[in-house]
This record gives sequence, C-alpha cells and structure tokens, in this order.
Amino acid sequence: MNVKKNDTVVVLSGKDKGKKGKVLEAMPATGKVIVEGINIATCHVKPKKQGEEGGIIRREIPMYASKVMRVCPKCGKATREAFKVENGAKVRVCKKCGETI
Ligand SMILES: [Zn+2]
Repeated sequence: MNVKKNDTVVVLSGKDKGKKGKVLEAMPATGKVIVEGINIATCHVKPKKQGEEGGIIRREIPMYASKVMRVCPKCGKATREAFKVENGAKVRVCKKCGETI
C-alpha cells in the first residue's frame, strides 16, 4: 500500500482526477482505499423499518490505491515517499522537500 489512513492524497485518474482528500480507510487485502469526498456514489435507500425514512445517501466507495498519490503535508506536492533511518527508527520522508511526513 502506498498510502495509509489519514494520509492526504490526490486522485490521479477518473472523474475525480486532481481532487484531494483524506484517506478514511486503507484496505491492504484488496489494495483499495476510501478517500473522503472522492468516488462518491449515491444510493437510494428504502426504509427498512416502519417510521424510518428512505432517501438518497451519498457515500464514498473504495477505489484502487494505485489511482491516488500521497500529498506531502509540508510542501503540498504529490510525492512518493522515501524512507530514512532517524535515531534508529525508520521514518517516511517527502522526496520533494525532504521533510519527515
Ligand atoms: Zn514535501
């Protein structure tokens, strides 16, 4: 997985190309992610119980993690992360600005 939960990502292709959002959920088993405000599907919901309201709900549907790219919170650019060892711990750094992300 190139992204993790709470990462900010930019969409590389599809109808939401160029949009940014926060990763709400990463699913390594399927290689998919759910990104806030991206890949929205509208579902028509029928009331299941009496008294419950039906209607239209909008929710994010999972998309392939390969279609998004991490955005560096420091410089705001889409980047692949590099790794470096700092004080004995492996940290992720931005390839563009070198900041720990
Ligand atoms: Zn950066």
